[in-house]
Amino acid sequence: MSALQNLPFNVREIREQFPALRQQVYGKNLIYFDNGATSQKPQLVLDAINHYYSKENANIHRGVHYLSQRATTEYEAARTRIQKRLNAKSSNEIIFTKGTTDGINLVASSFGNMLQAGDEIIISAMEHHSNIVPWQMLCERKGLFLRVIPINFEGEILQDEYEKLLSKKTKLVAITHISNTLGTVNPIKEMIAKAHNVGAKFLVDGAQSIQHMSIDVRDLNCDFFVFSGHKVFGPTGIGVLYGKEDLLDQMPPYQGGGDMIAKVTFERTTYNELPYKFEAGTPHIAGGICLGKAFEYIESIDFKAVEVHERALADYASQVLETFEGLTIIGDAKNKTSVVSFSLKDLHPFDIGTLLDKQGIAVRTGHHCTQPLMDFYKIPGTVRASFAFYNTIEEIDAFVIALERSLNMLK
Ligand SMILES: *Cc1c(COP(=O)(O)O)cnc(C)c1O
Repeated sequence: MSALQNLPFNVREIREQFPALRQQVYGKNLIYFDNGATSQKPQLVLDAINHYYSKENANIHRGVHYLSQRATTEYEAARTRIQKRLNAKSSNEIIFTKGTTDGINLVASSFGNMLQAGDEIIISAMEHHSNIVPWQMLCERKGLFLRVIPINFEGEILQDEYEKLLSKKTKLVAITHISNTLGTVNPIKEMIAKAHNVGAKFLVDGAQSIQHMSIDVRDLNCDFFVFSGHKVFGPTGIGVLYGKEDLLDQMPPYQGGGDMIAKVTFERTTYNELPYKFEAGTPHIAGGICLGKAFEYIESIDFKAVEVHERALADYASQVLETFEGLTIIGDAKNKTSVVSFSLKDLHPFDIGTLLDKQGIAVRTGHHCTQPLMDFYKIPGTVRASFAFYNTIEEIDAFVIALERSLNMLK
């Protein structure tokens, strides 16, 4: 009990907002340590989903009737809320997408169309598959080259190697803000400045940072910032691409269809203005509105305190896990948060994950969509505990006891 009271903000009060955390699986209290894969949803978001479909459901932007106008107003209010939170200059810079993967594919397709054979794109060795494969596909299509910045064994990007790779040929650098597998917090602001020095644009994969820290896109000076709603306490199927307005203006549309046009004839079509140019078809209206609610919720949370709390969780988990014989923590960056990945000698991560699950503990096992990173460490995968601000020290204690029990069973 004391650990809860000592925390810098009221975790107990926060947990009350998340009904999914108050359940048992296999007769055990659920301990949810799979926040890197997706987050649970606060009551505000759950109520908003229900309310939207019960009272407001209508298609947006085209209707003269009451419900349509109301849905449009709410959808656009969500966009503005997200713009303010990210400190973007204009709501035209906030494009609703399906998620991080969709946002990266949009940039690869549209920005990618403006690139020429021989141009280069830089990523790092710790990227998620969704920040690797779209670039590979683009490189194949356009005759571009993909360069990969190596990392050290601690799981940090080698900055001198990055500088060596940067050249006039570099057109885009795409890097994860926080590694979903290692928890490394990359020095993104400095890396952005270095890319700009050679005239390259910079995309930040923010899928693992937006839920752990305050993001200021103007301070970072990134050209693109992408994230998924479902990892930041909102619904699945919705996400955001932030892009600098002048850049988005120059870029060709991504998909064609309704809503993204100004005028269509069979001879010629003119495109709608931002942000609609990139939002073809009926969007995930409920998703956008409820992501706005998720942002309303996080506005009520002190993110300075969140950073302290989550680092304390990760540090504590690392400290206790290190005492296990044969256990190796994967990723030991100086700047690290919210994720503890580990492997155990001679044991398959899947077996450990299965035994933990039977004790009510949800962790993720496997390659975490970072197979090249697993190859670098020469392991098939890890067991990953990933934390959100609603997790507690007590849960880590229970997790450690369950892990001990699992290892005894596997002996
Ligand atoms: C989850 C994740 C993605 C992909 O997000 P989706 O919601 O599956 O599109 C990309 N990058 C990182 C770092 C992630 O953690």
